[in-house]
Amino acid sequence: MARNSTTNEIVIQNTPHTILTAQDSAAEVIHPEGAAPICLVCEHASARIPAVLDDLGLAPEDRYSHAAWDIGARDLAVALAQKLDAPLVAAGVSRLVYDCNRPPEAPDSIPARSELVEVPGNADLSNDDRQARVASVYRPFRDMLCRKLDQFEKPPIMVTLHSFTPEWFGVPRNVELGLLHDNDDRLAKAMLAEAPHDLDTRLNAPYDASDGVTHTLREHAVPRGLHNVMVEIRNDLISDSTGIARFADILGDMLTRAMVREVAR
Ligand SMILES: [Zn+2]
Repeated sequence: MARNSTTNEIVIQNTPHTILTAQDSAAEVIHPEGAAPICLVCEHASARIPAVLDDLGLAPEDRYSHAAWDIGARDLAVALAQKLDAPLVAAGVSRLVYDCNRPPEAPDSIPARSELVEVPGNADLSNDDRQARVASVYRPFRDMLCRKLDQFEKPPIMVTLHSFTPEWFGVPRNVELGLLHDNDDRLAKAMLAEAPHDLDTRLNAPYDASDGVTHTLREHAVPRGLHNVMVEIRNDLISDSTGIARFADILGDMLTRAMVREVAR
């Protein structure tokens, strides 16, 4: 592990037997000195694909599509980290390399198809290939998140930040902001109560825990008894700097009020 001297980010370096090159990192902690009792997480922050994987054979139009990453999520998470003075743990490679919000045993942790996007580089992987992805991406990401959680002086809340595509298999999605929970709904419901009235905000939309999307919450927050929520924003709303700033304000205010309402009681 090393610290980038210009950005003050902690970066996990390459390890032996890895698919990562020296230019790649599995995970990073942004704003590590953040003092708020809030751990932000962005598992789908990056579209980066290590060179050895040759773009996973993706078609050019798919290479930076929502299949590869959550469009706008990293920029929003960084803005929120600064606004709330909170550390952010973010994945450094595409979810098509390994989806850090899935356990290794989940078939879609390394998907050969995502919605309508074929991923030839993930088809017919050997067990060794899968294990190399797990060892190179999932475990370093998981270890970094565990270490960050251990560093808080008081138990933090955990907020994972995601974006979703406005259309799924051709069907438009009207929901703008989704608040998802696993078996602990305290923070999601407290945030819902603070949502702006002009925003289409829903609990457990466009996905819910039965879709297997709450792995990070279930793995890290629930066992520690931490208040937690998974936030999903429709990606057309955070496609530019104006949208990013707007949602950093909205989510910052919702979280701050929800913590007063639910966490600090
Ligand atoms: Zn996501």
